[in-house]
Amino acid sequence: MDYNKLADLLFPDVVNTPEFYEEKFPYRKLPNKAEVTRMAPSPTGFIHLGNLYSALADERIAHRNGGVFYLRIEDTDEKRKVDGAVELIIDTLKYFDIEFDEGAGFEENPEKNAYGPYFQRQRVDIYHAYAKSLVQRGLAYPCFCTEEELDAVRAKQEEEKVLTGYYGEYAVCRDLSMEEIEANLAAGKSYVLRLRSQGDPEKEITFVDEIKGEIKLPENIHDIVLLKRDGIPTYHFAHAIDDHLMRTTVVVRGGEWLASAPIHYELFHVLGFKMPKYAHTAHLMKFDEETGGKRKLSKRKDPELSLDYYRQDGYHPYCMKVYLLTLLNSNFEEWHEKFPDKDINEFPFSIDKMNQSGALFDKDKLHNICKNELSKLSEDEVYDFLYRWAYEYESKKAPVWFADKEKMLAILRLYMGVGMKRRRKDLIYAKQIFKLVSYFFDIEEDDEKDEFRLDNEEVKKLLKAYLDSYSHEDDNSVWFDKLKAIADSNGYASDMKAYKAEPEKFKGNVSDVAEVVRIAVTGHANTPDLWSIVHIMGEDQMRQRIEKILG
Ligand code: GLU
Repeated sequence: MDYNKLADLLFPDVVNTPEFYEEKFPYRKLPNKAEVTRMAPSPTGFIHLGNLYSALADERIAHRNGGVFYLRIEDTDEKRKVDGAVELIIDTLKYFDIEFDEGAGFEENPEKNAYGPYFQRQRVDIYHAYAKSLVQRGLAYPCFCTEEELDAVRAKQEEEKVLTGYYGEYAVCRDLSMEEIEANLAAGKSYVLRLRSQGDPEKEITFVDEIKGEIKLPENIHDIVLLKRDGIPTYHFAHAIDDHLMRTTVVVRGGEWLASAPIHYELFHVLGFKMPKYAHTAHLMKFDEETGGKRKLSKRKDPELSLDYYRQDGYHPYCMKVYLLTLLNSNFEEWHEKFPDKDINEFPFSIDKMNQSGALFDKDKLHNICKNELSKLSEDEVYDFLYRWAYEYESKKAPVWFADKEKMLAILRLYMGVGMKRRRKDLIYAKQIFKLVSYFFDIEEDDEKDEFRLDNEEVKKLLKAYLDSYSHEDDNSVWFDKLKAIADSNGYASDMKAYKAEPEKFKGNVSDVAEVVRIAVTGHANTPDLWSIVHIMGEDQMRQRIEKILG
């Protein structure tokens, strides 16, 4: 067979050679140990926590030693493509503080576009140059089998209980003669381009996965598809060429690709490329209450898989980053506790500390991290964050919440325990925070309010006494003395010792009286210091709240 002739027949318009591209995209000049990583999503319009999880790993691996992290769009599947998906990816990752150094989205900037184009559909010429070279070397061939013919082969294999797929004796187009190929082409038959696999079923490949350690898998023997009927490459072929030409050094990708590693091993070999390092990540799992076991997070069942979920509810991107680092590197948490003031980007991130089996996503843990991290911020930082979130997601309420900057700052200081011996840890995410402090604002909320534990008459009596003796000038201790006086004159103990000694002699104690005022003013039985609350909201608002109950 004259392979050169076949190559010219199949790719008459391809003029560039692999050497041309090798020169066009030279090895990157980077510092020692610097790695080149990439995120290579398909533009399906859905970006999830797993994407952020591996993007953060990629970003850390690249940036810890001055490497490059770039974005490549794997848009070979036209059916799954969604408009705006690329912007969504860039924008979402940016929100979570992950920025690319180059790639898709940087079309205007030649420096950040040097290894492009970064959209696979714009790289077809490149794939064809390599495909042509494989055909010239007898390592790829056209296959004219129809879907029906392939189905029939599969059925036969299933019946014979042998490995299914296009290989060995079942690869009927492997040995077509030039005349047969020419006749098929002349008849206008469509074809895919297949690899002529050199694999030996008796042999294994061995490689070291950066996360999973040494992996042994049988060699690939399948004549896998390189180019589909429309000339667009498969994931496998594009992966090998793109990661080679973009000079990726570490491929971090989902564990579902591990089984295909023998195909990639063979492709890199026949293409004459050096293999990148692979890091196959574990799935994000969650505890399943129904079964009591672990299961993969699912798009259908778990809204918290979507990154939009965290933006809409207003999780602070920094907290998300801390949480994901905790999941990604088993020693991060300890390091962060030991050096609470160090920039988390200084953490010596290492791939081999990444989770080998499923990383368990745990919302309670995330919430604890949010509480801790937000408590370390200044009230101004929290204010800015909430402001931005509110104007994006609650644009009607935002002007009310932020009408008085000092008031909001005072609320935050109170809820964060600024100036107290120990910071409070009440704040988790924006939606929760606004719910917590909504009583400061006259917006109708459908919040559940705590019920008074005393009966209505008693509540009114105590509230009336409170208003009668109230003076806004009182400091915290005078104010509390007045509460005690109300307690005493209504049969509640103001002296806790006396109450504890003979509780049956009293209707309750001063804290019951305080609770009535607290619920009347805030709607909640548990809040920070009530005097402070009243002094942030002001006398008028406080009186209105109580008078509403007095009727
Ligand atoms: N486009 C592939 C995916 O979304 C990328 C896998 C890889 O990172 O190589 O699964």
